[in-house]
Amino acid sequence: MKIGIVGLGLIGGCLGLDLRRAGHWVYGVSRRQVTCASASAMGAVDAAGLDLAALSTMDLVFVCTPITAIEPMVAQLAKVLSPEAIITDVGSVKASIVAPATQLWPRFVGGHPMAGKAEAGIEAAEASVFLGRPYVLTPLPETDADAISQVSQLVQQLGSHLYAATPANHDQAVAWISHLPVMVSASLIQGCLSEPDLTIKTLAQQLASSGFCDTSRVGGGNPELGLMMAQYNQSAILRALLAYRQQLDSCIQAIQLEDWPSLVEMLQQAHEQRPQYIDEPPRRAYSNA
Ligand code: NAP
Repeated sequence: MKIGIVGLGLIGGCLGLDLRRAGHWVYGVSRRQVTCASASAMGAVDAAGLDLAALSTMDLVFVCTPITAIEPMVAQLAKVLSPEAIITDVGSVKASIVAPATQLWPRFVGGHPMAGKAEAGIEAAEASVFLGRPYVLTPLPETDADAISQVSQLVQQLGSHLYAATPANHDQAVAWISHLPVMVSASLIQGCLSEPDLTIKTLAQQLASSGFCDTSRVGGGNPELGLMMAQYNQSAILRALLAYRQQLDSCIQAIQLEDWPSLVEMLQQAHEQRPQYIDEPPRRAYSNA
């Protein structure tokens, strides 16, 4: 297949590496020549340039720009692609993108690879990031069936686990497991920074280990991505944050009242239910250091 990738950053670069390895021919388009040169040098694309018109002969195009640029990019692509071409995107929110993009291009299929890294940019791209990770497609009832089938096949070639959801269900689900953690984790870092005693604050920074590393990782990532999650998934993220605040209040109340049975019940349920979300091999003792 001849595949275009617009936006040669972390996700665009990771996709290029894997799609080329799967035998596809990949042309990349980005805003800056230096990005195109890096993508070529690291083997993420067969060729790259700044001009969207170079994508006119592509069978399929992945839009991997920041969320805010996805819909305008689909509008621009609609002027250069052949009518049989498929457009898919990788944006972390779907409801605000999929409906307008489908209006612009009937063979548009919304998608979201549930994989990534804290770093941004082409330099952070690496192969096999999507391997064994979920990849959700969010077609509408009117989405072209052949386009869904072709994007599904590519997702399977990446070694990802394929899921389908409505854009609204996707947005609420990722608000819970992706966008809420970013806000919680960033608030955790801010909370630690608010310690007024400099000796304690410095000591905490010196003692921080694997537990803090795990819980602060997503909050210390790309700020632009977090901002876009809040702006483009506002109602779903607010719903999750408000429920989380309620949960924190229950936790505070249990500790204030020394209601240890309630606290232990909450912690026990969290311990039992975590594998419903993520299954990890057991860690060594003192793993929550
Ligand atoms: P990124 O590393 O910052 O890459 C985005 C790239 O897009 C930039 O390197 C930039 O390249 C290019 N770009 C920006 N505006 C453009 C435009 N108008 N036209 C063409 N290229 C443009 O960001 P990312 O993390 O890969 O995120 C990209 C998309 O993936 C987002 O929609 C995000 O929601 C989604 N996503 C991210 C993750 C994650 O963990 N990061 C996971 C799943 C999905 P130049 O250097 O050439 O300007």
